[in-house]
Amino acid sequence: MTKYRFARRSAILGNSVFDHVPGTIALSSGAAYPPCLPDVVREATEAVGPLREEAMQYAPLMGLDDLRDEICAFVAKDGVKAARENVLVTYGSKSAFDLALRTFCEAGDAVIVTRPTYMTAVHIMRTHGVRFLDIGQDDKGLDAAELERKLFNLERNAEQMPKLLFDVPDFHNPTGVTTSLARRKKMLDLAQRYNFVICEDDPYRRIRFEGEAVPSIKSMDTTGHVISLGTVSKILAPGLRVGWAIGDPGVIRRMAMQKADGGSNAFAQRIVVQLMRSNKMALHIDEMVHHMCIHRDAMIDALAEHVPEAVVRAPQGGYFLWAELPEGTDAERLVELGIEEGVEISSGRLSFPNDDPGHFIRMAYSFTAPDEIRDGVARLGIAWRKLQSQANSA
Ligand code: PMP
Repeated sequence: MTKYRFARRSAILGNSVFDHVPGTIALSSGAAYPPCLPDVVREATEAVGPLREEAMQYAPLMGLDDLRDEICAFVAKDGVKAARENVLVTYGSKSAFDLALRTFCEAGDAVIVTRPTYMTAVHIMRTHGVRFLDIGQDDKGLDAAELERKLFNLERNAEQMPKLLFDVPDFHNPTGVTTSLARRKKMLDLAQRYNFVICEDDPYRRIRFEGEAVPSIKSMDTTGHVISLGTVSKILAPGLRVGWAIGDPGVIRRMAMQKADGGSNAFAQRIVVQLMRSNKMALHIDEMVHHMCIHRDAMIDALAEHVPEAVVRAPQGGYFLWAELPEGTDAERLVELGIEEGVEISSGRLSFPNDDPGHFIRMAYSFTAPDEIRDGVARLGIAWRKLQSQANSA
């Protein structure tokens, strides 16, 4: 057997994110709902036919100009003023975030995150060796007062100041919380005062079932302290792997230079341009919103029936439900018992980069049909009762 000399960072992969157990009902990952995947035969045919000299070529480092223009038009609907020079096309928003980390952070630098935060972002940040300044979150979003206190103390003690803040202000992953306008303003104010950059990761903004949209942080940014991360993964299809970063042109150019792949995927970019130009993407978003709302309700109702002890907050959009179980619950064990019953969920562990309270779970309602959601949650209910009886007999 070869004794590989692995890098330390390769030891931290979490099983529950990457390995799916065949045959189980998957309530773990935020994959797209299969019946809703867009039919792109026409757009793909155009790309490999008349447009092949562009689509089969290396894309420009910054992305196709047509796509950068379409992205500007798309975000303009959210009040974000961007020109081509502000836009970098990437392989999705996770890849855009990775480029931002490469551009700003050395190993050992601190990044501000909510407690809990997006589990895959934690993984990406760990590969950069950053430290986590985790800040509490309530139903209005990141606790800006706690952040302000911590920043004040760090500065007073002449300690190293964080360079980046990562957050998902709309339908947060995992908690589903939407950050209030006041908190957004305060975060921006702190970014300007303490000179850090906010990575506003906003994949779910258009997947809103109810309530009024809150202005994005980027739309209020007049000083270039915000990089907006976007993607078509949740509004078209994750398989396209097309996302973007919007920011100050100087920042965007540096981020582009960090790309390991040159110009990303011209074929997929052209397909996205065609979908954005036609009405197809807008119609597709409406369809997604319709389905995801039904999925959310199915999951909330099923949980109330089968795991009534779980405390959940109905998100107004997005893909995820976050549940708090009674303190002392071993969520990791519940995940194991769930797999034995044929359902896969995620424990909160991977979403807490510093200390995991241990009794939270995350469930995605995006991928499975409402009937399967109900079945999956019923199985979780069996696992839950097993866990309780094991705890009582211990
Ligand atoms: N950010 C967040 C918060 C997400 O939940 C997801 C999907 N799980 C993404 C980004 C998607 O990233 P990508 O564009 O790379 O598919």
